[in-house]
Amino acid sequence: MHSARTEGSPPGRLARWAAMTQRLNVRLVLVLASVALVALLVSSIALSQILPSYLDDIAQRRADAAALGTALFIDNRADSLRSTNPSILRTPELRNTLLLQPATDDAANQFVQGTVAIYYDDGALAARATPSTNNDKVWRADGLEPDSRITARGRAELTTAPGESVWLNYVVTDVYTNRATTLQRVNGTLIGAGLAALAVAVLVGTLAASRLTGPLARLRRASSRFAQGDLDERAPAFAIMEVDELGQQFNVMADRLSDSVRMLEADRDRLREFVADVSHELRTPIAALRTFTELQRDGQVDEEQRREFLDRSTEQINRLEWMSTNLLDLSRIDSGIFPLDMRSGDLRDPVRAAVEAQAEIAEQRGIAVVSSVPTSPVMLRFDRERILQLLGNLIGNALKFTPRGGEVVVELVDAHEAATLVVRDSGPGIPEAELSRVFDRFFRGTNVGEARASGSGLGLAIARSIVEMHGGTIEVASAVGTGSTFTITLPREREGS
Ligand code: ADP
Repeated sequence: MHSARTEGSPPGRLARWAAMTQRLNVRLVLVLASVALVALLVSSIALSQILPSYLDDIAQRRADAAALGTALFIDNRADSLRSTNPSILRTPELRNTLLLQPATDDAANQFVQGTVAIYYDDGALAARATPSTNNDKVWRADGLEPDSRITARGRAELTTAPGESVWLNYVVTDVYTNRATTLQRVNGTLIGAGLAALAVAVLVGTLAASRLTGPLARLRRASSRFAQGDLDERAPAFAIMEVDELGQQFNVMADRLSDSVRMLEADRDRLREFVADVSHELRTPIAALRTFTELQRDGQVDEEQRREFLDRSTEQINRLEWMSTNLLDLSRIDSGIFPLDMRSGDLRDPVRAAVEAQAEIAEQRGIAVVSSVPTSPVMLRFDRERILQLLGNLIGNALKFTPRGGEVVVELVDAHEAATLVVRDSGPGIPEAELSRVFDRFFRGTNVGEARASGSGLGLAIARSIVEMHGGTIEVASAVGTGSTFTITLPREREGS
């Protein structure tokens, strides 16, 4: 009840009307209707100014002619009466009854089509006649009506007898005209035309607007579906150029936005997985350390067990350190602070050192590591620690993924403009679909079995960052079952720069 009152209230109606006029189709209809109405107004003003005076003019001329015609008509009849008796019109009574009254009757009915009165000069009425009502079918058939505003006067001399005459004044009034009906008809036609123009305006406006609003509505639907999360939604092609351009612009925006959203989603998913992995990774060493500590605190261990616990604790602490270092490096890369300590040196040193550092692990895993370096120094400017980290990651991966009995080759080749480092293994290889992603952060492949669990998907991302900071490139070539080859090219231009 309350809401009904609110809705129907004048301000509410006003607001709704104002909102309606914001709509394109309503506006177009209003504009077209206004144009039609203005055209109609102009033409009706013009007609109302011109038509009545034109009709009055015609009626006046007809009345003037009628007055003159009556005089001639009576003169004519007088001639024929006088031919039988030259003095027959001398007496006013005879003149009136024999000539003036019947002639006036005939004139009024036949050609004046109005009231005819004849006066003598002294003002005395000689004869007067109005069109007979019997003649209605003639006079009124076309909507003729007596017009009281028209008066015509004439004056003529009538010969009453040889050498005698009287002056007669002819007055014609109330001439039947179709002025009123003509004006009425014109008004009716104008109103009809106005209504027709209005209807056409509404129709044309609605059609024109729907050709515009239809595509706009489709575009709006597309954008709202997009906004609701359907990132594949795009605007179709439109016939109206401007709307089509808008649609294309929308599609460009949608492409960019959906790319960004997908990237962010992928990043978010990887981050989630990474956080889950990290917490899982942290849980294992922490649980192990807790167990060792508790056992030792309870004092239920002998010396030998104590030593073993300490060894395994050190192992777990190393793992924790490795993880935190990787995470720290990654956050430094993210925030753009990853300083390099570039010095000129022999690149063979870090290669040898990296191979050396992993020799024990390789032996434990039963994997042969073959390294090959040039016989002469490979001089280059590089950050030794970072190159060690880079090689550590690559060789570490190779050892991690390659099964027992396999082989890892580390090779350094010196060329004129660059040095090339190759780390090749005889491991399981990387599926083609994953090749482009192995350098992505948090990416961990599907084809690497149990070793996957020990990874964080950070090693290659950090490796790539280190190479790029040295101005070099890193590439991977691999196929499932044939092992993987990582090739790093470090340019020499940096030397001395
Ligand atoms: P992780 O710490 O998980 O090893 P990386 O960034 O070092 O992370 O490697 C990313 C992924 O690339 C690995 O999960 C694995 O699928 C693939 N990968 C890297 N090196 C090798 C390799 N030598 N052989 C096979 N797959 C590899």
